[in-house]
Amino acid sequence: MRKVLVLIEAKAGNLRGVSLEALTAAQRIAEDGEIIAVVFGSDAVHYANVLGKHGANKVYIIRNEELKVYTTDAYSQAMRQVIDEVEPDAILMGHTAIGKDLAPRIAGRFGLGLVSDVVDVQVEDGEVIFTRPIYSGKAYVKKKVVSGIPFATIRPNNFPVSELNRKIEIVHFYVEIKDLRTIVKEVVRKSTGGVNLSEAKIVIAGGRGVMSAEGFKPLQELADALGGAVGGSRGACDAEYCDYSLQIGQTGKVITPDLYIACGISGAVQHLAGMSTAKVVVAINKDPEALIFQIADYGIVGDLFEVVPLLTEVFNKVLV
Ligand code: FAD
Repeated sequence: MRKVLVLIEAKAGNLRGVSLEALTAAQRIAEDGEIIAVVFGSDAVHYANVLGKHGANKVYIIRNEELKVYTTDAYSQAMRQVIDEVEPDAILMGHTAIGKDLAPRIAGRFGLGLVSDVVDVQVEDGEVIFTRPIYSGKAYVKKKVVSGIPFATIRPNNFPVSELNRKIEIVHFYVEIKDLRTIVKEVVRKSTGGVNLSEAKIVIAGGRGVMSAEGFKPLQELADALGGAVGGSRGACDAEYCDYSLQIGQTGKVITPDLYIACGISGAVQHLAGMSTAKVVVAINKDPEALIFQIADYGIVGDLFEVVPLLTEVFNKVLV
């Protein structure tokens, strides 16, 4: 029986899918124990019932003007106070921009070991064991935290979202934020539109073979037909065919969609590092020797400008 603290994130008024997945991971650790969600911001109270539905027993709602926008300083001060109050037996966060920034600070502050980018959690002989990819996704390693309590960040799209319909207890918790070294005056969001790449179930990715920014249009049309997101290789980003926010790979986003369609991507190891845990990989490439075919579940040797519009046409017919 453990008490597990889960940091919940919301974006544009919606709870992030990875936060709900983290509640499932927390359930495995807590067993019959307690799952405590922590949410920042004035909208937090609206999320309470949803968090109960997906497994949380209790939610700490933290309202403070300084927490309206994420800053490392303010969030780590607030999290430290929540941890001091709750005294959890384990902590989980999403492996998101915020989780990746905040978790090491919390780990440093409390002297905890941290396992990042976790894709599975099990309790074996009473010990919490985290599984994470290594060597750019070529192998998996099982880890346990030997210094302090189990602490991990969870990679999106690896845990099912549970439906436990728990009655949730709401705790309004006051935190003191002081001596901030960073003040955010304005947040200007780049409009990427559509589905969030990191959490998308279907991703259509383009590489240098797409040839131009215009060449991404048929990929976007296929993504729209399937309700997916568009991504790119670094080759495509470097050539300015798409924005770096879409880059998938070792130095870009690491994603685990149900379906990944690689169009005009050769399959360099640095690219595979970002998508090789996709559940089904389809590769479209005109070179039958392209490395991407070695890891693809389905391969189509052909010109993407012929194949992609054909797929879109078919999906638009069958998915209406
Ligand atoms: P290419 O390798 O040029 O492949 C283009 C492919 O398109 C070819 O296979 C070709 O046959 C095919 N093609 C061309 N025309 C068509 C057509 N009409 N129809 C169908 N197929 C066509 N790369 C990443 O992607 N992500 C990273 O995070 C990343 N990080 C890196 C970090 C480091 C330190 C380094 C050194 C490199 C990194 N790279 C990364 C770069 C990586 O090594 C490759 O250079 C890059 O992935 C290649 O992109 P690409 O597959 O789009 O281009």
